[in-house]
Amino acid sequence: RTITPYANEPFTDFTRPENKQAMEAAIAKVKSTLGRDLPLHVGGEKIHTEGKLVSINPGRADEVIARVSKASQQLAEQAMEHALTAFESWKKVSARERAEYLFRAAHLMRERKHEFSALMVLEAGKNYVEADVDCAEAIDFMEFYAREAIRLSEVNIHHPLTKIDSEENMLTYIPLGVGVVIPPWNFPLAICVGMTTSAIVSGNTVLLKPSSLTPAIAHKFVELMEEVGLPTGVLNFIPGSSAEVGDYLTKHPKTRFISFTGSKEVGLHINRLAAETAEGQIWIKRVIAEMGGKDGIVVDETADLEAAAAAIVASAFGFQGQKCSSGSRAIIVESVYDQVVERVIELTNQLVIGLPEQNFAVGPVSDKSAYDKILNYIEIGKTEGRLVAGGGAATEAGNGFYIQPTVFVDVDSKARIMKEEIFGPVLAISKAQDWQDAIAKYNDTEFGLTGSFFSTDEVRIVEALESMHCGNLYINRKCTGALVGVHPFGGFNMSGTDSKAGGHDYLLLFTQAKLMSRKV
Ligand code: GLU
Repeated sequence: RTITPYANEPFTDFTRPENKQAMEAAIAKVKSTLGRDLPLHVGGEKIHTEGKLVSINPGRADEVIARVSKASQQLAEQAMEHALTAFESWKKVSARERAEYLFRAAHLMRERKHEFSALMVLEAGKNYVEADVDCAEAIDFMEFYAREAIRLSEVNIHHPLTKIDSEENMLTYIPLGVGVVIPPWNFPLAICVGMTTSAIVSGNTVLLKPSSLTPAIAHKFVELMEEVGLPTGVLNFIPGSSAEVGDYLTKHPKTRFISFTGSKEVGLHINRLAAETAEGQIWIKRVIAEMGGKDGIVVDETADLEAAAAAIVASAFGFQGQKCSSGSRAIIVESVYDQVVERVIELTNQLVIGLPEQNFAVGPVSDKSAYDKILNYIEIGKTEGRLVAGGGAATEAGNGFYIQPTVFVDVDSKARIMKEEIFGPVLAISKAQDWQDAIAKYNDTEFGLTGSFFSTDEVRIVEALESMHCGNLYINRKCTGALVGVHPFGGFNMSGTDSKAGGHDYLLLFTQAKLMSRKV
């Protein structure tokens, strides 16, 4: 079949009653399957173990989503053996054939979109739009990386070599080996699918350790890959504890690369472990890490202030502020500060908190430990700024981990809530003397993932484009919602290795270039 040009998967319009009803029906259907025992997938075998991860609905904490078997080190070792064996044949499969598995999976996921989204509504606490966007991004990643693998396989087209008369020269990208893939819970489908399929379509085999908070949606994806006939051992599913299974595999001499998305602390820990050379190891492990952010929005006095306030609120509170791209800081110039702050407060107070399955704007945060950590940051915020919205738990919203969208103003740019990633619905706002001071404050961070600049002044926009130091910089729009292929996503400094997911360089991270030269 012919491959059409890549295009983004459209989002569902839930203002249309038939779409809303379709999602409600999907949620009801998924609800009737909750509480099952889900196995590991090791070399094509489905294994149930004694130890279980219990995944619960963060919006309704007594609802069990699934009990997922946990891998021991011994099972992780078995999975490694299978992945090593599978690699020997998978690396020889043509890129076109490997891509076909992704095309088929994308097609089936599109057909069952609401079913995948519904499971995220229940397991991750996403509202309909957030879940739908996550699912669309998962489809996008498969469509995009499948095409990329084919493009990269076209020898010498991607990387033209200088010609000399006496030789024929070729450069080709070959896979690395077995990779450990450790995705996060916040985009439990999109990022899990993107990280896994990019590695696989490049010819590697994978040990997938899903987040312990969202193993059921990861398992649903693994079942899909099995359904499309991905050969045995190419994708192994090994949920388990980070300390036990994650560290064991990160240190393993046969692990060739680790692809991680999550917190700065865990990313640095993995990087440290991966830097050690184990007995029998014959390579330097590659670490691809997408870590945190302390992303922010800068507003000057020439900006469309209404649009800026709306973007600040959307970036801060979309999915309860639990995106690495979330705008947890806003820096506003003095002369329009009060006006923007007032509008931010109004818009924040309009957000209604409640059960994701009933599609409230704001749902729960991920789990008890996040809940405690965020509430603690809110207490810290009370000593660092002036509380103008929210300020605590939202217990009336239900039996889940609900926290009020919270805004602090007049926060010093050196304050902890301006510096540390909270990963929850907490926004800190600082005042700046002028736009240059605002940009300097924006840049005063160890992170560098996303940022936005609101202005109508062309000279300042040019200056901001150059000087705001982050991987994804947006002008006059929110700082969340990167689209695959349109906004390759990844950041600087402590935000990670600037591996641009959804960009043309991404698959190179899972390959190595081989030059072949022949005398003629
Ligand atoms: N790509 C997402 C966005 O642009 C964020 C991904 C993340 O949170 O890791 O909003």
